Amino acid sequence: MGLRTEYKFIVDHNVGKLAKWLRMMGYDTLFFTGDDDWQMVITALNEDRVILTRDSHIMNRGVITRGRLKALLIQSENPDEQKRQVIETFNLDTRARLFTLCLECNQPLGKRTKEQVKDRVPPYVFQTQDQFVECPSCNRIYWKGTHWQEMTRRLEKLATESAGK
Ligand SMILES: [Zn+2]
Repeated sequence: MGLRTEYKFIVDHNVGKLAKWLRMMGYDTLFFTGDDDWQMVITALNEDRVILTRDSHIMNRGVITRGRLKALLIQSENPDEQKRQVIETFNLDTRARLFTLCLECNQPLGKRTKEQVKDRVPPYVFQTQDQFVECPSCNRIYWKGTHWQEMTRRLEKLATESAGK
């Protein structure tokens, strides 16, 4: 598979942690929390999303075995291994679109000036950061603080390990 950035995903509840990471990398990702797998399949079909799941029963569904719908059976219980499997399988770009989507609501983030966030972030953050983005849906503000750096560092590490295989 070539380098594609247009993949969209739907993540089953049994691998829910993947949703946040895929959004962090800028991949449009829904988190499926319902009980009825069929609903997830329908959504994936309607919205052209790839299913990520640990449930092998889903993989046996006709729409998937016949190739109408793409799905990946996640092999490991380990969150890092799970991320690595997805990144490798779809050859995901771990850098190009970092922090362009809200980690909570999957909405595209909008750039904000320092002045716009002045009274909405801690004073220390306001003093030390220059770049801010905001989610139009939940109004959460993101900046390149320690949490951001930590997540980026972990992604870089995974990407490096994958490349070195
Ligand atoms: Zn949000």
